[in-house]
Amino acid sequence: MKKYQIFILIMFFLSICIFEKVNATIKDLPLLDKIIYLDAGHGGKDCGAISGSTMEKDLNLSIVKKLAQQLGEKGAIVLLTRNTDKDLANKNTQNRKRSDLTNRAMLINKSKANLYISIHMNSTSNKNWRGLQIFYNSKNKENEKLAKIVNETIKKKMSTVREIKKDNNYYMYKQIRTPGILIEAGFLSNPSDLYLLKQDKYQEYLANLITNGIIEYIKKKKL
Ligand SMILES: [Zn+2]
Repeated sequence: MKKYQIFILIMFFLSICIFEKVNATIKDLPLLDKIIYLDAGHGGKDCGAISGSTMEKDLNLSIVKKLAQQLGEKGAIVLLTRNTDKDLANKNTQNRKRSDLTNRAMLINKSKANLYISIHMNSTSNKNWRGLQIFYNSKNKENEKLAKIVNETIKKKMSTVREIKKDNNYYMYKQIRTPGILIEAGFLSNPSDLYLLKQDKYQEYLANLITNGIIEYIKKKKL
């Protein structure tokens, strides 16, 4: 074999290796170029639900940070309404809660996000109630589809998941045009849920299931 033939052969095998590697990388990045807005509920003076020394605002942010990391590893561009312990209300506002929620909705609407996920924790007077529940506003048809797919994905691995629920009354979600859902990750009023939600490993697991649900939605929608 002549020298140049050997060179061509080497180049050929090299190009196959590179092609396979690039292909494998793209397969590993199912959310490549997708923009996802994550919204950790409450913050600052607004603690959300409280159980003993556990505040909802802290758990929301902790899960959102883990979710951001995992979505990023799958190629997504992740935006956060907050990444510290603060709310988004304007200074000197008459209604801090309303201002906070309006600003969150505005941030998401102004972005070019493909979807948003709001993370909250539930709480009720009945200590037996437990489990993750997804809420959606029906003004955007995509919301129900996203809720269904993420719910189905999580349900395969988690027995306590509740049925998805339409709720058109939440002030914030009425204003958002971008597709998205509200995930109430569990009940702080239930001892088992509370114990799990405080664990780093459980938060990672939850973030992983939500990430898988989002990947399923993107795949089905061919976004
Ligand atoms: Zn909340």
